[in-house]
Amino acid sequence: MTLNELSTGESALIARVRGRGAFRKRLTEMGFVRGKPVLVVKSAPLQDPVEYRILDSNVSLRRSEAGLVEVIQPDGDGVSGQDQLPDEDRAQMHRNGEGKLWGRQWRRATRKAIHGWEDSDQNNEDLPWSKDLEKAGRTINVALVGNPNCGKTSIFNRLSRSNEHVGNYAGVTVDSKLAELSFKGYHFRITDLPGTYSLSDYSPEERYVREHIMKEKPDVVVNVVDANNLERNLYLTSQLIDMDISVVLALNMYDDLLGKKDVLDIDLLSKLLGSRVVPTIGNRGKGVFRLLNHVIAVFEELDPDIRHIHINYGEEVEASVRRIQELIRDNPSITDHYSSRFLSLKLLEGDDNILHTLSSAQNFEEIRGSSQDERHRLSVLFRDEPVTLITDARYGFIAGALKETMKKSGNDPGFSRSRRIDRVLTHKYLGLPIFLAFLWLMFTATFRLGNYPMDWIESGVELLSVLLRNHMAEGFFRDLLIDGVIGGVGGVIVFLPNILILFFFISLMEDTGYMARTAFIMDRVMHLFGLHGKSFIPLIMGFGCNVPAMMATRTLEDRNDRILTMLIIPFMSCSARLPVYVLVAGAIFPEHAGTVIFGLYMLGILTSLLVSIIFKKTLFRNQEAPFVMELPVYRNPGLKVVLRHMWQKGEHYLKKMGGVILLASVVIWALGYFPRNIEWSKDYEGLIALEQEKPEPSQEVIDQLYSEKELERETASLIGRMGTAIEPLIRPLGFDWKMGISLVTGFAAKEVVVSTMGVLYQADENPEAGSSSLQKRLSEQVYGSGPKAGTPVFTPLVGLSFLIFILFYLPCVAVIVAVGREAGSWKWAGFVLLYTTVIAWVASFIVYQLGSILQLG
Ligand code: GDP
Ligand code: MG
Repeated sequence: MTLNELSTGESALIARVRGRGAFRKRLTEMGFVRGKPVLVVKSAPLQDPVEYRILDSNVSLRRSEAGLVEVIQPDGDGVSGQDQLPDEDRAQMHRNGEGKLWGRQWRRATRKAIHGWEDSDQNNEDLPWSKDLEKAGRTINVALVGNPNCGKTSIFNRLSRSNEHVGNYAGVTVDSKLAELSFKGYHFRITDLPGTYSLSDYSPEERYVREHIMKEKPDVVVNVVDANNLERNLYLTSQLIDMDISVVLALNMYDDLLGKKDVLDIDLLSKLLGSRVVPTIGNRGKGVFRLLNHVIAVFEELDPDIRHIHINYGEEVEASVRRIQELIRDNPSITDHYSSRFLSLKLLEGDDNILHTLSSAQNFEEIRGSSQDERHRLSVLFRDEPVTLITDARYGFIAGALKETMKKSGNDPGFSRSRRIDRVLTHKYLGLPIFLAFLWLMFTATFRLGNYPMDWIESGVELLSVLLRNHMAEGFFRDLLIDGVIGGVGGVIVFLPNILILFFFISLMEDTGYMARTAFIMDRVMHLFGLHGKSFIPLIMGFGCNVPAMMATRTLEDRNDRILTMLIIPFMSCSARLPVYVLVAGAIFPEHAGTVIFGLYMLGILTSLLVSIIFKKTLFRNQEAPFVMELPVYRNPGLKVVLRHMWQKGEHYLKKMGGVILLASVVIWALGYFPRNIEWSKDYEGLIALEQEKPEPSQEVIDQLYSEKELERETASLIGRMGTAIEPLIRPLGFDWKMGISLVTGFAAKEVVVSTMGVLYQADENPEAGSSSLQKRLSEQVYGSGPKAGTPVFTPLVGLSFLIFILFYLPCVAVIVAVGREAGSWKWAGFVLLYTTVIAWVASFIVYQLGSILQLG
């Protein structure tokens, strides 16, 4: 019987807790352990939750939870716990006329029942219920699940020793057979279920098997798979994994596998799937009792390799799953019984039968509505049924698992197109060079092709500011528009083409399925640095933007792996840093800008690997669990889809420009613009007028006066004062205060470094100066005062030191927030902020100081 069948005052002994792993764990922690007496304190029909007393404390359980706790009630008066109750509870029960009177004998017996169970030396045979308890606690319900003709009935017969006719019953009856047997002190109840390829609700068999698993809740599902065709057989396994139930795999027809001389790493496959794989030869009975041993180990939770894994269905599907899951989680009475992830996936697949299971949900309509919305969203996004996306991902998971564990001997007939392509692209030796060549192409295209449209936009921006300067009345608004808005946003917008090209390549990799392969190709290399091949995808995505890269770490199962990857993602130069590189490198190393930028990317990658080794040896010294790297089928997404995805990513960049960059530019400009009432040390206007009235005015003198005035104005401005304040910190790196301020503002977004420089270095009151590109301005910038007066601000050494600082120092605020959220701790967010900046400072310091000593610039 189950706990929810008891009424108030009744007590019983816990036989065992059924249900899903997480649920069992929670109840076990509450004290619901085999042999412990439990007493119903308060319960009324329809009352939920019910209060129980266990281990000297009162706990409440929902009825649906109590329904999963199996108990036994010995014949006779039952087991008392009542006299262990506090007085008030007991009095309350007596007032209600509930409960029985319990004798001293029962009290002793209860104690004995508890201790007798745990201490095998004691003779508990004499207790009338100890046998029942043992039997209930040691009964294992097993269901045999598998494709048709994989050998379920053969295994079933071997176990039950019955000799039921073995043969093909395909689709004749939808029925199951039950056999009971004893093995190693356990009582097995084994059900042979009809063969199915899947657990959808297409055929009666599929529905029957699914219902059996969901309603009967076998303790362990033995998933029989045909070793001859693992790819197809593991499809069903992938669905069982989603259900989050205990599974043992019987790798049947193992004789065929051996005969074909295929090599399968069974141990690794077990680890990858999180479920034990046991080779069997069903028709000869080989391995079937070893199978039972593993069933016991899983039942008693003794197998350390067993864990619940998540098959990764790709970013978009996972987002949909999360949204639906959140709604389902509002119904604990449902999630006690079923995995919310499984239900969400089934809803996305459009499995209407599942709606039935959810009909008791208090927010049923909301769940249904949301799953329809999500299905629609995915269909539009991928122009494909969600069920196809999910199926493809499952096969991708299986292909990945098999790629790592299985070596087919020679001639393998059933070649899919994807596998043919993979033969080359993930080839042991060719894979890496091909991939590196692709990366080189990607970066070259980004810089080379991007240059043409960049020039056009640049001329456009210049034209616009000249037009405004000529047609607007002098004053605050003109300055705001030209120096603040155009100076800032315009400085950033010119890099849009570069960024779009980069996004084009990243989308191309994602959409074709090549991105998933990079994990494979890089796995061996990544392991050298304490990382997993799967870490590589977030790292590559980091070149686009660090924020989605942080989110992409979700595909890593191990928390330590995830955090380690998050810590090094900031060293992947995101597309927002690209404008700074192009600007500064172009201004200072015009001949070698491409090489310098490529070098920065490489320096970032190398540092990330080095840092990873250090962290792995210090912070995360754990053993890593292997997991599957999915190999989804290659797709030809078509140019339109890739372009659309490129644009979706690029839109984000444009929005940033209209938002944070615009705002920052205006604020920086205002900080530089005010205060207006400066007490000049000289009468500049007068001196300039004086010079101009001369018969032969010297332009040099005029320019000199203008820039002196400008310098004085800047120093007096709010931002100038801020810059002076932080100068001591950055002087050892060779930076002037404008660079310092630019770096500080880069925390909002990295492009803001450019827009700030645009505002600070371009704000010029000399009407003769006209407009020239920011790049030119930088290269012409000279110190106006101090010991370095007259010398260029951006020497090659300063430029290099500055670029290195930009590469390493703290990521923007959006990334910090993403780290905090994904790592589930703001401690890590703070750590990222700090350690990257320390590395940046030290690296720049070394470069600048060493370079100065060696007189390199
Ligand atoms: P079911 O449909 O899953 O119940 O599969 P059956 O138990 O009916 O087996 C289908 C066929 O496979 C029968 O002819 C069995 O004799 C054969 N068979 C079962 N297990 C093995 C095995 O391990 N190796 C080989 N070679 N044949 C097997
Ligand atoms: Mg059968």
